[in-house]
Amino acid sequence: PADGAEILEIREVAKQFRGLKALKGVSLSVDRGEIRGIVGPNGSGKTTLFNVISGFYKASGGQVSVAGRAVGGARPYRLSMLGVARTFQNLRLFADLTVRDNLLVALDRTRTRAIWRYALWPVAIWRQEHALNRQADDLLARFGLTEFADAPPGSLPYGIQRRIEIARAMAGSPRLLLLDEPAAGLNGEEVRRLAEIVRSIRDSGVTVVLIEHNMGLVMSLCERVTVLAGGEVIAEGTPAEVAGDRAVIEAYLGD
Ligand code: ADP
Repeated sequence: PADGAEILEIREVAKQFRGLKALKGVSLSVDRGEIRGIVGPNGSGKTTLFNVISGFYKASGGQVSVAGRAVGGARPYRLSMLGVARTFQNLRLFADLTVRDNLLVALDRTRTRAIWRYALWPVAIWRQEHALNRQADDLLARFGLTEFADAPPGSLPYGIQRRIEIARAMAGSPRLLLLDEPAAGLNGEEVRRLAEIVRSIRDSGVTVVLIEHNMGLVMSLCERVTVLAGGEVIAEGTPAEVAGDRAVIEAYLGD
């Protein structure tokens, strides 16, 4: 179906690095409006899976569909055009630009007219810039970043930088947001704030898939959890179901 319930459908995806099979036929599907957790011991293939979904890696086999469209082999910009946004485990912000500029470069300009049409029309350019700045203001306010607008991210606390990265991913108005360990390095209060932010993103109509080691966060946030180990899905279900699963407990004992 071109427009079914699934926003993300992964079928038998494999990824091999030389001799190493990082993903061995992973299948999973995520419904629109879900908050899905991806957990598993270190080296189980979680980030590789994100890299395949977002077009950073080409799968060695299998299929990925976003909103019913096969996207296997598509480059990251194509995935971005289809509404897939992501964050990275280690932050990738422009450390020396201001927070506002970090958001402005990522804003969705498709709703305004092509800039070249205004090349001889400075007022129109000024209006477009004004509109983009208003959108940046909205994002800053929405993610509690207004007071940091003119600071470079590199000068801000780590927890704030993580929030900027989420805000930047949201600047492109995605429909699917992939968060790679968003709680890494955050303190308890920051994790609580993160949970609120992720819920508000979902409530605005965006599907969220997160890789996360913080089990408290996964338990409180995710409706369903997919567990990877050794490049395979070993369990899937509600947080309570997978937490009690024997294969999952054994996979973590070996970690
Ligand atoms: P996780 O995110 O679950 O910790 P990864 O997806 O990062 O696991 O890694 C899965 C396996 O694939 C690991 O053995 C890792 O060393 C390997 N791997 C990941 N990326 C690469 C790469 N670019 N080149 C070679 N091996 C890789």
